[in-house]
Amino acid sequence: MPQNTPKAIRGTQDIFGPEAEAFAFVVETFERVRRLYRFRRAEMPVFEKTEVFSRAIGETTDVVSKEMYSFEDRGGDSLTLRPEFTAGIARAFLTNGWQQHAPLKLATHGPLFRYERPQKGRYRQFHQIDAEIIGAAEPQADVELLAMADQLLKELGIEGVTLHLNTLGDADSRENWRAALIEYFGGVKGDLSEDSQDRLEKNPLRILDSKDRRDQQFVADAPKIDDFLTDEALGFFDSVTSGLDAAGVNWKRAESLVRGLDYYRHTAFEFIPDEGSAAADTLGAQSTVLGGGRYDGLMESLGGPATPAVGWAAGIERLAMLVEDRGEPLADVIVVVEDDARMSDAISALGKLRGSGMSADLFAAGSTRKRFDKAVKSGARSIVAFDVRDGEPTHRIKADESDTPRLEALLR
Ligand code: ATP
Ligand code: MG
Repeated sequence: MPQNTPKAIRGTQDIFGPEAEAFAFVVETFERVRRLYRFRRAEMPVFEKTEVFSRAIGETTDVVSKEMYSFEDRGGDSLTLRPEFTAGIARAFLTNGWQQHAPLKLATHGPLFRYERPQKGRYRQFHQIDAEIIGAAEPQADVELLAMADQLLKELGIEGVTLHLNTLGDADSRENWRAALIEYFGGVKGDLSEDSQDRLEKNPLRILDSKDRRDQQFVADAPKIDDFLTDEALGFFDSVTSGLDAAGVNWKRAESLVRGLDYYRHTAFEFIPDEGSAAADTLGAQSTVLGGGRYDGLMESLGGPATPAVGWAAGIERLAMLVEDRGEPLADVIVVVEDDARMSDAISALGKLRGSGMSADLFAAGSTRKRFDKAVKSGARSIVAFDVRDGEPTHRIKADESDTPRLEALLR
């Protein structure tokens, strides 16, 4: 690398080659599957007023307290590069009066920004696909969203990843569970990580989600949400699980699963690689590939009307690491110019090929004698070469017998 050229920002990536193909495959498959489930596309800004995130996600979360890219713009407003989609979508829902479309099924994807310690599968600019159902209080919405996630993973060919499912209950269940967690963790406060000692009063659920061993040793025996669920919350969870069974979605109960963000109620879930699976080997400790849940309280934290909603997001990079290496696609046809006098014919043929839906490339640079061999080496399915012999224009086609008539017809 030449000296004195700018370097990329730490935690960002330049994605190219087979990895870029895998990335595109994830996005294309998501686009196809979201159409099957009739989710509508939306595009939101990459930045918002900082309060959109601090109010929606919660000040006590890692995302807001440590990971946001916030800055003051020239007009003195505090802005933040979006660290997640849901808060911005909720803001857009309220700004634009999308209540009229409720229940609204929305899908989007794009870059997100978090100031994290970069490591395998963890970046400062990363990308997510995201699906939300806004204005739907019924457990069937949770089922539909999870069935979509499950089908997406199957269509990506990802195996060895299982849906881990929990309920955080309704506001009452959650409040009582919270109090019990404060009491339990309060008893061992001195042995907890510094972060968790801080969180204890503000956000004790987050201790269950801690990646610090000092906290993890106490998680197994911590009070379980099941002991605090109201009949209503229990009924909701039963409907979700029986719906998943009916939809053929495999799931596993995960009693300690909470989501990092404050706004979740009822259903919370993560798709996690099975222990010992190839997916677990590939992703290491950074294992959640897709996560989400129900966030019935979020719209109100932005000053909107109570609006039930459920959603998920998945890291495109992590999914791309799990899809089979697709290499880079070979051309259907390479058009070779063996005599530069035939350039116009070659360009015209190229247009016809592409117009008829075949991927095609032109080899018309470098030594004329070597172009055909280069086309052969490229692995293209067919080759069409234009030449001049004894003063007469000629062409030759190297293709499967079944492809040759089609190519001849196109070139006529
Ligand atoms: P983690 O516990 O791994 O930090 P999280 O709870 O912060 O995850 P979410 O906010 O739920 O993650 O984001 C959903 C998904 O987005 C994750 O499961 C993961 O696939 C992806 N993701 C989150 N943060 C990053 C990152 N910094 N780099 C790459 N992918 C990420
Ligand atoms: Mg995180």
